[in-house]
Amino acid sequence: MPAASQPVSRAASTDARRPAGDPAGAAPTAAEKAAAKAWQVDLRELGRRAGSMREWEKTIPALPGWGVEMIGVPDGAPVQVHLRLESVMEGVLVSGSVQVPVTGQCARCLEPVEDTFSLDVQELYAYAGSTTEATSGEDEVRRIDGDLLDLAPLVRDTIVLTLPLSPTCTPDCAGLCVDCGERLDDLPADHSHEVIDPRFAGLAERFADFTDNADGVQPGSGSTDPEEN
Ligand SMILES: [Zn+2]
Ligand SMILES: [Zn+2]
Repeated sequence: MPAASQPVSRAASTDARRPAGDPAGAAPTAAEKAAAKAWQVDLRELGRRAGSMREWEKTIPALPGWGVEMIGVPDGAPVQVHLRLESVMEGVLVSGSVQVPVTGQCARCLEPVEDTFSLDVQELYAYAGSTTEATSGEDEVRRIDGDLLDLAPLVRDTIVLTLPLSPTCTPDCAGLCVDCGERLDDLPADHSHEVIDPRFAGLAERFADFTDNADGVQPGSGSTDPEEN
């Protein structure tokens, strides 16, 4: 089922669209801390001189909870990160792209869906004490925490806001037959079920008796009408 029309207001949506199993509340284990640390860039190597630049080309395991109801990045899946970190007056400008494997389920026919998303990223992280930090809210401009720049929230938000709420296995997936539940794309084009209007059901049965008799079947043997009176 599509979780459909949730308003996508940037600040509130990331939490609202988190799956129920997200471990945000639990104390992180050592392994979880190590996984989270892999997404943090130590800025001491970049330096604060405006114009200095560093490429960040890595494959980093995805953290848990990067998904929406029907599709998401599997926990630990390899995310290819191609980012450039540039020191600017107010902070660090992060730009580039990430390639993320996603798996899920077709919202129409429930078949597994697998894809790789390539997402563009561009974001300014503000230095503590910068004018940008002083004049913007924490939900508007991301902050640099000491010497560390945490890329995980940026990548997670970019992914979660891009994921379709109703993913489909093919763009024109026809879904399931409402009568037999089979995938319509696997069935012949003329697949249908004989549907008789209930108001005419009795008439249709009598008509069936009539044709049975006409074909020479013994009277009564072809009739199972429980409503016969
Ligand atoms: Zn489908
Ligand atoms: Zn059917």
